[in-house]
Amino acid sequence: MALEIGEVLELVDETPTVKIISIAMRNKKFYDYKPGQFFNLYLSDNSNSENPADYKLARPYSVISSPTNKMYLEVAFKVAGVFTGRLANLKKGDKVGVNGPFGAFTFDEAGKDIVMLAGGIGITPFISTLRYATDKRLENKFTLLYSSRFANEVTMRNELLRLQNENNNIKCIFTITREVAAGFEHGRIDEIFLKKHAGNLSEKTFYICGAHEFILAMVELLIKLGVDKKQIKKEDFGFVKK
Ligand SMILES: Cc1cc2nc3c(=O)[nH]c(=O)nc-3n(C[C@H](O)[C@H](O)[C@H](O)COP(=O)(O)OP(=O)(O)OC[C@H]3O[C@@H](n4cnc5c(N)ncnc54)[C@H](O)[C@@H]3O)c2cc1C
Repeated sequence: MALEIGEVLELVDETPTVKIISIAMRNKKFYDYKPGQFFNLYLSDNSNSENPADYKLARPYSVISSPTNKMYLEVAFKVAGVFTGRLANLKKGDKVGVNGPFGAFTFDEAGKDIVMLAGGIGITPFISTLRYATDKRLENKFTLLYSSRFANEVTMRNELLRLQNENNNIKCIFTITREVAAGFEHGRIDEIFLKKHAGNLSEKTFYICGAHEFILAMVELLIKLGVDKKQIKKEDFGFVKK
């Protein structure tokens, strides 16, 4: 859909580095997306402008809301640079340009046994999918292996635990790589970790999302373990180091 103007309903701190923004759209067609898809968000120098042409600075963001939510789009973003620095300073009532949905990193209900590999802020499309599957009472099984650097950077842990509690088909494993903390696995997702938590890898569908380096490492690992490329879907958030 062409760019339209949305209104900020809420902007909250989720972790010391991640914020969650809720954006209400007048055009309800924006709520017709597939879990795992992304929208382009746009900012204007005048955050009250109703003129789409004023919204020029753009970045893509996967939504964490489920398409079952017809009230707002919800995005979790890591405050990292030019765009997110400005997004983090918006106030309730400010305007944001939105177009989309885009992307093919969508959840395929035919895949009965799904393994999700999330690196850092790459958790976002999985939150949408797990919310959707829980709301719709789908029977697909999900194993989420979510790697973060530090315990306090684990985004939406309580929401993920709530979904796991509510939906017997969801299993969430949190691992942190730069410290040791109670309640978390320690270390990167490697062969031992994958076999321990995902079991037999054949006949599973793998979804990978995160920074470019994370995608490369996970694809290499899966291929090494004999997973067919056709069983792997990926969403590369970028962030190549400067
Ligand atoms: C399909 C798609 C979906 C995306 N969904 C999300 C999402 O749900 N949430 C989200 O936060 N981002 C998401 N991104 C990334 C997003 O589009 C921006 O690239 C990101 O927010 C940084 O924009 P910026 O202008 O703030 O930083 P820039 O000014 O463009 O970058 C500043 C510096 O920070 C680095 N950097 C940027 N982000 C990170 C990071 N997370 N970790 C480490 N270094 C980083 C960059 O490499 C650069 O060196 C997605 C990207 C794609 C392609």
